[in-house]
Amino acid sequence: MTRVFNFSAGPAALPESVLRQAADEMLDWHGSGMSVMEMSHRGKEFISIHAECEALLRELLAVPANYKVLFMQGGAIGENAIVPMNMLRGRASADYVNTGEWSKKSIKEAGKYAKINVVASSEATKFDRVPPRDTWKLDPNAAYVHICANETIGGVEYHFTPDVGDVPLIADVSSNIMSRPLDVSKFGLLYGGAQKNIGPAGLTIVIVREDLLGGALPITPSAFNYAEQAANDSMLNTPPTYAIYIAGLVFRWIKERGGLTAMETHNRKKAAVLYDFLDATSFYNSPIQRADRSLMNVPFKLKDEALDAAFLKGAEERGMLQLKGHRAVGGMRASIYNAMPIEGVQALVAYMKEFEARHG
Ligand SMILES: *Cc1c(COP(=O)(O)O)cnc(C)c1O
Repeated sequence: MTRVFNFSAGPAALPESVLRQAADEMLDWHGSGMSVMEMSHRGKEFISIHAECEALLRELLAVPANYKVLFMQGGAIGENAIVPMNMLRGRASADYVNTGEWSKKSIKEAGKYAKINVVASSEATKFDRVPPRDTWKLDPNAAYVHICANETIGGVEYHFTPDVGDVPLIADVSSNIMSRPLDVSKFGLLYGGAQKNIGPAGLTIVIVREDLLGGALPITPSAFNYAEQAANDSMLNTPPTYAIYIAGLVFRWIKERGGLTAMETHNRKKAAVLYDFLDATSFYNSPIQRADRSLMNVPFKLKDEALDAAFLKGAEERGMLQLKGHRAVGGMRASIYNAMPIEGVQALVAYMKEFEARHG
């Protein structure tokens, strides 16, 4: 068996020990005689898996008691509609900050349900930064302020939590949740798909302050109504049971390694290996302003894009996969979530140096 260094943006690499445990437990989970996939979501075995997953998430992220944790389906793209349906709460408009491709999708979808004000944008500088907070033109009557905490495609990440006064702050944290500690109390709602930094595709995590529940638009489907899901322990419909089980194993893996503070140290070290190299060469370059560079998704360009195909081919031959940048921005992208070991980033930089020596 050969495991590659998988730089995919999502679905992404998972810790090998988690995959091994899942394999060991595949046919018979803890003497139940069943795979987790075969269990009733209302049986005592799965209820315990679900409860442990939520408890670990709450512990690792220090989620305050007045927040509900929901395990839903529909992905972050689903949430682009589900958020306004639930969070307008009788108000007419919401404020959105545009930092790239995922922000744009959120803005477009939310526009089906409300008047959306784009209160700041870095489009004029090709989404190379987070617009400084003091340039945002916020509306104090907005239902909420929406940000994309980490632009998975463009590689721009918030390294601060913006103060937006009394208006609830909502963040798409699909690609940086669990990568470092986060002060949940500064947000009204956090959401994200699991398949970047938590587990398999199919699970969507929503963390929402209780007092914001109950004001959903009447057209909101029950499966996507936060208050109804909260009242039913996320079991109004069948939850993505296997994905919840794997997420729980990943949370245990994070806890065993020292929690989110340790994850942050590990992630900063990895990102520094790559960014320090990018800053020291003119053969490759990072298009993102230093202060706003993502620790999770590192886009970079070769000086001569005619060499892109050869670069990718050589990487693949060395067991480094999925380095092609998103079609919206081109170039390369290395996604280095929690499960990527530092050896993977070191191998990538060694290859980049070798390629530069040959073609530079
Ligand atoms: C991947 C991603 C999405 C889309 O998630 P789906 O699960 O495909 O709906 C949205 N936002 C961000 C920031 C992402 O990284």
